[in-house]
Amino acid sequence: MWTPAFRPAPHRALCTDCGVSRLANTRACATACQFIQPDYDVAERAVHGRARDMGTDELFFGPVRAMHRARLRSPLPGAQWTGITTRIAERLLETGAVDAVLAMVPDPADRWKPVPALITEPAGMAQARGMRMGYAPLLALLEPARDRGFRRLAVIGIPCQVHALRKIEAEFGFEAIFVIGTPCSDNTTTESFHRFLALLAPRPETVTYLEFRADMMVELRFEDGGRRLIPFLQLPIADLPADFFPLTCRTCVDYTNALADITVGYMGGEGEQWLLVRNDRGAELLALLGDEVLLAPVGERGDRTPHVKAFLDNTRRAAGGLPLRRMPKWLRPIVGRLMPRFAPKGLEFARARVEMKAIETLLHLERQAPAKMRRMVPPHVRRITARYGLGAGDAAPPG
Ligand SMILES: Cc1cc2nc3c(=O)[nH]c(=O)nc-3n(C[C@H](O)[C@H](O)[C@H](O)COP(=O)(O)OP(=O)(O)OC[C@H]3O[C@@H](n4cnc5c(N)ncnc54)[C@H](O)[C@@H]3O)c2cc1C
Ligand code: SF4
Ligand code: SF4
Repeated sequence: MWTPAFRPAPHRALCTDCGVSRLANTRACATACQFIQPDYDVAERAVHGRARDMGTDELFFGPVRAMHRARLRSPLPGAQWTGITTRIAERLLETGAVDAVLAMVPDPADRWKPVPALITEPAGMAQARGMRMGYAPLLALLEPARDRGFRRLAVIGIPCQVHALRKIEAEFGFEAIFVIGTPCSDNTTTESFHRFLALLAPRPETVTYLEFRADMMVELRFEDGGRRLIPFLQLPIADLPADFFPLTCRTCVDYTNALADITVGYMGGEGEQWLLVRNDRGAELLALLGDEVLLAPVGERGDRTPHVKAFLDNTRRAAGGLPLRRMPKWLRPIVGRLMPRFAPKGLEFARARVEMKAIETLLHLERQAPAKMRRMVPPHVRRITARYGLGAGDAAPPG
């Protein structure tokens, strides 16, 4: 495994330091960046051979050939869920399908801080398991990968990294790049995340795992093997400063990583992982797992509409600088426990989360960077939000 030093990054207002600004071609951000002028229609055609069908669930999730609930038969220690993401990459290395994998490993001094790594041995993938909070210049590794003579690569990335990768991959002339994506939302700097942890646990340094689960609970795990579940409603979100989530992560437009070959998430998985196979290459990646992976059909229950409307109302207040509507303190634990029962499940939960993110994007951009709206908000986001009376959608979405 190799974790190099990088060129310094120039300051940019909307930037998650995906690594492009640290490449020799310092002008690449202009065409690569998700925060400048993304064109998903063109990018999806280039990657998947077709753009999403906006009359179906692809409006929310991007081009999809097959979706599954999934888990590894033997979950991998240290993985965020069962480890499907890193196991696929490990199989690519084991079978010689790639020379190296670009992924994030933890900083040796801070388990929450991501560090980009070029991994060439299958055993090295164990270190990449688990979720880190923050940003690190993953794509700056494309140059050293090329310079070391690697011809075939896999990249594990979050949506803003994968968008940029797809825009610049051809320049590098690799024989093949396999892209394993995860969804991403509500990321922040590692420093801010430490402040959040300090509000959740008296000894935050002992927290080893955090996940926002599909049953509306945040799960924390601790060094001593302990576990704690906190209902979303009881999170101290309203106590966080307004800029806790950077504008990038409040306004990014591709929750489900539509340009990956395969997306590995959990939102539509009802407690298990959620796979979106997007093209032939994605199908090849899933096939590498053979009978190590257990697949089941995706399901859905409930109605997301009232939840999304309540979110819209609160986000409007927050984006407008007004205090959030808070439930009385005594009621929160009761509603917090009841909410998972009434919350939408499976694909309906996933649609709800995508809609909420799209609403955030429009409201926060409108408020904080209106000049960016025309170029930065793609048609699928406008169409998703049109259902709630926002944006200039040209038709009502399904559901
Ligand atoms: C900041 C963040 C927010 C997320 N939000 C959602 C969400 O809202 N909904 C959802 O369905 N899924 C989300 N995910 C993905 C989810 O947490 C799991 O990573 C995913 O489901 C894969 O689980 P796994 O067990 O297969 O992963 P593992 O096998 O444990 O592998 C995890 C992979 O994630 C990569 N990774 C870890 N941290 C980072 C980081 N900071 N930046 C880039 N890559 C990283 C590692 O390189 C590793 O390859 C998010 C991931 C991140 C990093
Ligand atoms: S392409 Fe990457 S490095 Fe460049 S501005 Fe966008 S996020 Fe930042
Ligand atoms: S929330 Fe969006 S912008 Fe922020 S790190 Fe994730 S994909 Fe990138």
